[in-house]
Amino acid sequence: MAETLIKVDLKQSPYQNEMVHNRWHPDIPMACWVKPGDDFILETYDWTGGFIKNDDSADDVRDIDLSIVHFLSGPVGVRGAQPGDLLVVDLLDIGAKPDSLWGFNGFFSKKNGGGFLTDHFPLAQKSIWDIQGMFTKSRHVPGVNYAGLIHPGLIGCLPDPALLSKWNEREIGLIATDPERVPPLANPPFPSTAHMGKLTGAAKAAAAATGARTVPPREHGGNCDIKDLSRGSKIYFPVYVDGAGLSVGDLHFSQGDGEITFCGAIEMAGWVHMKVDLIKGGMAKYGIKNPIFKPSPITPHYNDYLIFEGISVDESGKQYYLDVNVAYRQACLNAIAYLTKFGYSPAQAYSILGTAPVQGHISGVVDIPNSCATLWVPTQIFDFDIRPNAAGPTKCVPAGVDMPISQDVV
Ligand code: ZN
Repeated sequence: MAETLIKVDLKQSPYQNEMVHNRWHPDIPMACWVKPGDDFILETYDWTGGFIKNDDSADDVRDIDLSIVHFLSGPVGVRGAQPGDLLVVDLLDIGAKPDSLWGFNGFFSKKNGGGFLTDHFPLAQKSIWDIQGMFTKSRHVPGVNYAGLIHPGLIGCLPDPALLSKWNEREIGLIATDPERVPPLANPPFPSTAHMGKLTGAAKAAAAATGARTVPPREHGGNCDIKDLSRGSKIYFPVYVDGAGLSVGDLHFSQGDGEITFCGAIEMAGWVHMKVDLIKGGMAKYGIKNPIFKPSPITPHYNDYLIFEGISVDESGKQYYLDVNVAYRQACLNAIAYLTKFGYSPAQAYSILGTAPVQGHISGVVDIPNSCATLWVPTQIFDFDIRPNAAGPTKCVPAGVDMPISQDVV
């Protein structure tokens, strides 16, 4: 039986747990140490540390202070790891905490984080998803039921001081181009809600002042939100500090490509059983700058899709030059418009695209002026037939609990 090296108590604040942190900084002490070849289990909070509740109100999604995220378990030190090595991580298995067999999805208010379609969904909304073994369904989004593709949204190693400075410099530079933007262009260090693991006192304050926020993916991996980085995957991480300092969190029971709803996939508390190894000098040997990985041999078996196209012309008809972001947004909006014909509200359809194993593809990037993105919706996740036919769509969505929505507080 693999040893559980980090435990979390969901009834306790993550700030009370010194084997958890919510910033990236090389001074965060290792929570524990392992050797190459070891396998072990880390428990994790959900990314908000338990702030979002299993209820029928979206007030928590509206009111969350997003400077507290993400609560990560680690860093785990690996004996012998040195800068320039590759840390090889096998995700042997991942699961939900037995005392927390549910997850959440939501859209943040445009005034507090937003999301990919925030101009269309500017208010906070939430859906709760029940986990039954390897399957999930939601009282707020009836008519779908699917197998989870369980993965960590966030996993990576500690940066060294030079890399951390580079991150802060370039992100603060971006913010400076439009400092009043809502939502902001990036998130600068924010010491008052920083949790720096075992650091205390002056050392904690000094590190918190420059500790990088955990929201974006960066060269070390981090918050990549790749649904295919699922249990059974093997990941090769660049190592920047002695001991590597591997941290993980933000577990997702399931997610669509893009995690377009931002809050987020089906977010859950859980555990990761992993094994670590080293490839000495692997970064230079293989020319590695960002992590690479091999996917799991096991994935949910969906092989029939309805595929929605989008081009780089926005909702108002404005032409963009090969803008994949605009094209993917159009593909998503096209899918939402289609699903509403079967009785879903636009918000329920948006939730499906954020949580179900939908695929996003960059299909064309050379045919000026339009890039083409496609969104692949698996037809087998629905309790009814969503394919077009001559008779036209019928309202098939069964009754459920209204999806919670919360007005902004002015
Ligand atoms: Zn997440």
